[in-house]
Amino acid sequence: MMTRSVRGKISVVTPVLNEEGNVEVLYNEVKKSCGSAGVDLEMIFVDDGSTDRSLEIIKRLRSDDPGVQFISLSRNFGHQNAFFAGLTRATGDAVITMDADLQHPPYLIPKMVDMWRSGAEVVYTTKSDANIDQVKSVIVRFAYWFISRVSGLKLGFGQSDYRLIDRKVLKVILDMPEYHKFLRGQISWIGFRQEGVSYNVEKRHSGVPKYSYKSLYSLALDGIFSFGRYPLHLVMVFSVIVLGFSSLYIFAILSIWLLKISGIVHIPMPPGWTTLSMGMFFLGSIQLIAIGILSEYVGRVFDQAKGRPVFIVRESSEE
Ligand code: UDP
Ligand code: MG
Repeated sequence: MMTRSVRGKISVVTPVLNEEGNVEVLYNEVKKSCGSAGVDLEMIFVDDGSTDRSLEIIKRLRSDDPGVQFISLSRNFGHQNAFFAGLTRATGDAVITMDADLQHPPYLIPKMVDMWRSGAEVVYTTKSDANIDQVKSVIVRFAYWFISRVSGLKLGFGQSDYRLIDRKVLKVILDMPEYHKFLRGQISWIGFRQEGVSYNVEKRHSGVPKYSYKSLYSLALDGIFSFGRYPLHLVMVFSVIVLGFSSLYIFAILSIWLLKISGIVHIPMPPGWTTLSMGMFFLGSIQLIAIGILSEYVGRVFDQAKGRPVFIVRESSEE
């Protein structure tokens, strides 16, 4: 079994959107956990367009500890892009990504570091859903199942963005040019030696969740459409099935008509309106689904083709 040098440096990357009640507590706990894990800490806060005192508090932490770094983005770029922004600055031997609200418990760090030292290149975490809001839990469970099915990735329920990645995995992630970042999917896709550890998710330490249903939805779409062409394949399957049924229907109608004109037997035709309109709506909706799926892909090609940066820095501790 491969073992790494005993003392190493860990970069902890944390996106922050209005977390003034959390950053300092998080910093203290992470510092403590890194101490007991026997690693040096580089703490990188990414301020993702906060409008509260988060950045001010982070700057104060930095004035006491130069191991604290920050990047402040020019506006809100979203959780995934904020993580990515932080990753571009990480210089540690391994990087831990974690949320700022203490729902990702810092006490797991020593365990994650141990697993990394004994050879894991990715240590991912899964949460048990004890403390998650019921409705959200059902929706999220379904989304995980569906995304895994459709994208061909193996995403277990409750895989979060709390994970440790080795420096060489970091390099691969930074080299992936995709515009729509979906770290969970990217990490699952790239391979390497991955090991999991599970934890009980806590309630937020302070403040309110920043992930609206809308942003969960867009994250799910990224998971579905950025990893494969299975949805396009589904359209094809739908079309073939519809074509099959339509052909049967046409064959039946034709037979009745032929029987009638050849004078063998006369089966009165229904007035036809119901079937016609049903057919129209059915085919219409299949076509709309197909267009919708195609436009998801075209939209992604468009975003990628523009080649815009996935985050813009206003100020950072490096300057
Ligand atoms: N966050 C962010 N930008 C966003 C949304 C969230 O940087 O646009 C941060 C937020 O401050 C927190 C983490 O991402 O540190 C996770 O957000 P939240 O706790 O709201 O997500 P949930 O736990 O509900 O999935
Ligand atoms: Mg949270």
